[in-house]
Amino acid sequence: MPTHDAPMSPDEFRRLGHQLVDWMADYQATIRDRPVQPSTRPGEVVAALPGAPPEHGEDFQAILSDFERTIMPAVLHWNHPGFFAYFPANTSGPGILGEMLSATLGVNGMLWETCPAATELEQVTMSWLRQLLGLPDTFTGVLQDTASTSTLVALLQARERAARKAGAPVNDAGFAAGAGLAVYTSAEAHSSVVKGARIAGFGDAGVRLVPTDDALGMDPGALTRLIHEDRAAGRRPCAVVTSVGTTSTTAVDPLAAVADVAEEEGLFHHCDAALAGSAAILPEMRRHFAGVERVDSFVFNPHKWLFTNFDCSLQFVRNPGELQQTFAIDPEYLKTNVDGQVTNFRDWGIALGRRFRALKLWFVLRYHGVEGLRSQLRAHLDLAQDFAAWVDATPGLERLAPVPLITICFRYRPREDLDEAESERLNRAILERIRGTGRAYFTHTRLGHSFCMRVAIGQTLTEAHHVEELKGLIREAMASVG
Ligand SMILES: *Cc1c(COP(=O)(O)O)cnc(C)c1O
Repeated sequence: MPTHDAPMSPDEFRRLGHQLVDWMADYQATIRDRPVQPSTRPGEVVAALPGAPPEHGEDFQAILSDFERTIMPAVLHWNHPGFFAYFPANTSGPGILGEMLSATLGVNGMLWETCPAATELEQVTMSWLRQLLGLPDTFTGVLQDTASTSTLVALLQARERAARKAGAPVNDAGFAAGAGLAVYTSAEAHSSVVKGARIAGFGDAGVRLVPTDDALGMDPGALTRLIHEDRAAGRRPCAVVTSVGTTSTTAVDPLAAVADVAEEEGLFHHCDAALAGSAAILPEMRRHFAGVERVDSFVFNPHKWLFTNFDCSLQFVRNPGELQQTFAIDPEYLKTNVDGQVTNFRDWGIALGRRFRALKLWFVLRYHGVEGLRSQLRAHLDLAQDFAAWVDATPGLERLAPVPLITICFRYRPREDLDEAESERLNRAILERIRGTGRAYFTHTRLGHSFCMRVAIGQTLTEAHHVEELKGLIREAMASVG
């Protein structure tokens, strides 16, 4: 029985670390041989593990073998080249290595003084990304954990701005000062907008869903009408949240037209481009972002489609002073001698503690360079267009939304007279059948009343032949369900 009542020695760490890095490299090299989706039943992992922590230290090899035996079989392999669900979850060699260093340093970058490198590397990588995305230098970036947090942070800033204008900041006066404030977003927006609105105290009653046009983008005329109706009814329009690349279909709201309305009506404008923001590093994709320089806040997740390990969400704001006014709180024990000269990122969001996230991003940006990132994204976009063209050309398949980026929504509809329920049954059967093969994994969504399959192409390891295999699986499944 080992006695582990002292820290692991550097020599032991070195030996085990090498072993683990070998494991990690093998995992990447052989991931294709694993089924994408585990066949785990609910409760299976819990049942396989002891209910109480070990009294005595355990041998590292025993931990590792339990990891192999109990944990690995219950892992959904997000980095499998056959993973086409939700959104890509890009890890990459440089991203993983940067994350290892961040774990090793174990710093908390809450203040400049608690790790000057964490703060300043964050400033540098944010500036690099601002330039890469084509944003003007009137924007300042900060790393948050997720887009949900970034959107909540933006809504809190918007709330504070509106309440302050009315003479009573919610920070001082509490929730009542925000009574009647309303947030506008489209029905296609991500659920994190409504969740953020709930947490920020707007409530579902304060969220107004703006109708969309045929391409599922927000209708700015309808936005203006809703705002006017609401003012007439005594509500206080406060913020609009646009989406570039909605979750269901990657639909794009018209940022410039919404910015016209937001400026005219005095609304805070936050733009959620959690997945699609990566595309802004491609000059030919910037058209989707026209007007972005006029938003107050913009979020995108390098952890989705920019080869950077989860979590890494980037928020750009036009008025960092107002953001800090929303979150700054100044207890004696957090004061330092340099507060007047530095950025303390603890005042830019919800948590005090902050991981050294910029490190992995810096590794990724330097390892691939702008050209390397661009060519990988272009390859994904080409694969998505190719897949969409295949759907269009395949009898029995019907594409249900445009494909501006990497997400394709489509369904199997062998006969025109098939009703929605029957169509849903067939498409669910196809999904289940393909997932059961272990070769590919994707999910569904609903557009209007129509259940459809949804494929997102953008994994780090996904290549043309993986998409060809996916087409073959769909063909086979179509034939099998009749
Ligand atoms: C994925 C996604 C989110 C949520 O992202 P998290 O980082 O998981 O909070 C929000 N909005 C859109 C458009 C998304 O695609």
